[in-house]
Formats: sequence, C-alpha cells, structure tokens
Amino acid sequence: MRAMKTRWLLLLGAVCALRAAAASYPDRWVWIFGWGLGKDADVAEITKVLEDGAAHGINGAVVSFGLDALCKKSPDFFRRLDTVQQTCTRLKVELIPTVFSVGYGGGVMSHDRHLAEGLPVVDAPFVARGGAARFVPDERARLLNSDFEQFKGNKFKGFNFHDDPGVVSFVDTAVKHGGAAAIRLENFASNPHGHGRVMQEVRVKPYRCYRLSAWVKTEELRPTGSFMMQVLAGNRNLAPREFGLQPTADWRKLTMLFNSLSNETVRIYVGMWGGKGGKLWLDDWSLEEVGPLNVLRRPGTPVTVRSADGATTFTEGKDYAPLVDAQFNPYRVPEGTGLPLRLPPGSRIAEGQQLKVSWYHPMLIHDSQVTLCMAEPKLYEIFDEEARLLAQRLKPRRVLLGMDEVRMGGTCAACRGKDMAKLMGDCVTRQAEALRRHSPGVEVLVWSDMFDPHHNAHGNYYLVEGDFSGSWKHIPKDMTMAVWGGAPREKNLKFFADAGFATVVACYYDADNLKHVEGWIKLAGETKGVRGFMYTPWQKKYALLPAFGDLLKQARPAGP
Ligand SMILES: [Zn+2]
Repeated sequence: MRAMKTRWLLLLGAVCALRAAAASYPDRWVWIFGWGLGKDADVAEITKVLEDGAAHGINGAVVSFGLDALCKKSPDFFRRLDTVQQTCTRLKVELIPTVFSVGYGGGVMSHDRHLAEGLPVVDAPFVARGGAARFVPDERARLLNSDFEQFKGNKFKGFNFHDDPGVVSFVDTAVKHGGAAAIRLENFASNPHGHGRVMQEVRVKPYRCYRLSAWVKTEELRPTGSFMMQVLAGNRNLAPREFGLQPTADWRKLTMLFNSLSNETVRIYVGMWGGKGGKLWLDDWSLEEVGPLNVLRRPGTPVTVRSADGATTFTEGKDYAPLVDAQFNPYRVPEGTGLPLRLPPGSRIAEGQQLKVSWYHPMLIHDSQVTLCMAEPKLYEIFDEEARLLAQRLKPRRVLLGMDEVRMGGTCAACRGKDMAKLMGDCVTRQAEALRRHSPGVEVLVWSDMFDPHHNAHGNYYLVEGDFSGSWKHIPKDMTMAVWGGAPREKNLKFFADAGFATVVACYYDADNLKHVEGWIKLAGETKGVRGFMYTPWQKKYALLPAFGDLLKQARPAGP
C-alpha cells in the first residue's frame, strides 16, 4: 500500500512537472553586456554567467559583441566567439545576437563615421584673404561675468539666476579656478527640487554651432548623475550631454558643442538637478561660435559656399578645395575656430570677398551616443553586408535589433521633411529584410521604445525634427517587442498586446533585488502575448541571475 502510494505520488509528480514545463514561459534569457571579446578573460567571465544561468533554467543569451562589424574583427575575436558559441551549445542556451543600432551608432560607425546624423550650420559668414576663406565668428554671442569675478554679497552679476544665493549658491574666494572668486553650490537638500543651478540667457544666431565650456570641481558630490550642463530653448534641450563627474575631483574643464537650430536665444544652465549632498564649484565658463569643425561629408550633408548676396553658388574642387576634416571624430569636441576654405588658383572667389558657407556637423548625446541618419542609402549596404557575415558566422535563429533611443533625425538633407514614424518603421523593416535575405526564417526582435507611444515613439523627442508617433504601424507584425523600462509598465505591455505584437520583457537594471522583476512577472501573467523575460544588467551585475531563473520557473503566462 505504502509502495503503491509512493508510486502514485511519483506519477502525479511527473505529470505536474510536465504540466509545469509546458506552462512556463518559453523564452528565459540573459543579456550579456559589457564584453567585446577583446581579451581571453572575457570568455571566462561570460562562460561563468552562462553556466550559472543554464543551471537555473536560462535558455537564451542575447549578446552584444559588436556583431554588426564582423568585417572589422580579428582572428582572436572569432576564436573567442567560437568558444562562447560552443559553450552555448553545450549548455543548450540559444545564442541570440543583437545588431544594427542607429541610436548608438553601433557597428556602422566603425564602417563610416560620416553616416552620423547631421545638424545644419546655415550661411555662416566667411571672408577670403590670402588664398583662403575663413569663418568670422559672431562676437556678440558671449557670456557675461563668465569668470565669476563680479558679485555683491552672494549674488553674481550677469546671470539670470543662480539658485538660492546665500543658501545653496555662494561666492567662494578661497576655492576658485582663476581670478579671485568662483561660485560654490551646496545644501541641495534645502531646495525642494534639489536644485543647485546657474543660468544665463544668451543671444545666438539660428543654425550656428557653438562651443561651451566650464571648469568644475567637486567634493563628495552626490549623486553625480544629477549634474548637467544644458542648453535649453523653449522646451527643447539642444545639448543633452552627460559628463561622468567623480564625487570628489579637482578642477576639470567640461566642453561641448551645440547647434542653435531655429533659436535666437538659448538658456545655458550648469549645475545640479536633484542634488542630495556635497559641493560643486563652477568657474571660468566660455562660449564661442565656431566654424567648420567635425564637418560631415556624405550625400545628405553637402557643403555649400555662396556669395554674400546668395547669387553665386561656388563649386567645390574648382572655386575651393573640398572641405575635409582630417580630424573628424563625432566623439570629441575639437579645438580651434574651424577649418579654412582653401582657394586654388583659378577660383572665382576674389580677395576680400564675403561668403555664406553652410555645412553639417554630428552631435554627441549623453556621453556616447551618436545617432545615424536612417535615410542615407549607404547605411543599408552596410546592414546587408553585415547580415551576410552574421548568417555565415552564427546562423542565428533569432536576432535582436538594437533600435532603441534614436535621439536625432530629420535634420540633414537626406531625411529632412520625411515622415519620421515611417522612416523609423522602414529602417527596421529593411534591417529585418537584410537579416532574412541571408538567414531565411530568422525571427526578429526589436527594443520596444521607438515603437511605443507611451515611451519614445512621439514628437518633441530629443533633437529629432518630426514625430515618431505611429512608427509601430510601419513594421511587420511578426516582430517581437523587447519591452523595457525600470518599474513595471502596464500601459506599455498592454499597448503591444492590443496592437498584436508578441513581447519579451527586458527587466532588472542592476538593482540589489528582484522587486521590479517580480512586478513584471505579475503584470505579464495578466497580459496576453508575453513570451518570456530577459535578465538585463548594464553593469555586469549577474549575481541575481540564478534567483531570476528560479522565479521564472514558477511564473505562468496569460497565454498568446
Ligand atoms: Zn539625416
């Protein structure tokens, strides 16, 4: 009897286990991020993550090793990739490449940095002298009291405001970068918003490029992520940059470029938003209009040189030597006032002649993002070739498109005036087509934000001219959305369920616990179309991956 009961219980257990296996989420993935396979140690670290995950039910690894720049990789890279691939096979973990980022430049930037999206500089004045025409900056675009030397009490002259003088902002004559004084910001918690900012409004010329710099010193500043140097016009942020300050550091010069776009005045802010503690000193700001620096050269970013009256358009290669920036690098801020236009013998440009010169330059967003132009045909040639190499090398069954956070577009001659929602949808459709051309039947996933009206698919988005609303109507319905966001996002998941897209939830983001993951699992259990989850850290925090895998084993989907 006892034996029979045991057998019956065992049988029941097996049936339950079968049911449980059939009912759990089919996609249980881990995001492998922060390794470029540049050294052998990468492989050992990745192997540990894969083994830990596989032991707890993880069955997919989404990897970002720069797999859309395969034509640039070394034999050592491929040797390491082979090892990772073999480990995945051994552990029964599917290797899922992520490729084709537009918002972060991705592999395309290693093919051709001139495919960056461009902001226009229009009709900048030049004067021809001694065989070259040189840019003439607008001397009126200047900051007042930028050395912080003029003050009364704790109030600095020339600035539109600095937060709470004598409470948050102070004149400091002991700690300064140059001259006799600097501004010190502290006691951020005394301000309801944690503000500790300095602002000055400046007149600029529309569609010109400016270089802004400030000297900064910190002492136990926190959180350092609350520090920003921003240029605002209306409700637009013309230069969304981040600088990675250290909590305590000696004087450091921060520099950035911005384009005035259609504005005649801008508000320049430096300081803390949401500061909690510590001290920040600012001193010796500078602002100057600059000429041709980081000049983009591709079909959609032409250089135009005209006479001052606009009647004559001069010819590149004949009236002036091609304006080529040998130091072109969208990731750095160049020095100097800009390249001269060399005037060869036979040029129609006369000595002393005034000119109007137009060009395009790229823009660095946050600390590392350089957006590509989605309308430049060469982009798709690169995608096609890399899709071919990817198929040859990895034979992927599934691929994630890295199409998140596309911060620019609609500003160069190739994409200006286009329907940005359609351009976004067409770009992703063509990426998927390239993948399927070389890997027939491959399933394509995409980060969700640029196709989600509750996330980034809307107007007034960063430096984009145009509106991404409706982008989701321009992509194939068989694409799977990798939905992301820190806390659970009910509206977002429901939006894709209603629009008929399958979803995978990419959650986690380096917390010390799985609270958000538990919330997402609960939400997914109530929403149709969720096919699985991806443990997604950005700081190599994989300690909670086993617990994440165990949570998924218990989780049950709502159904297709
Ligand atoms: Zn463009």
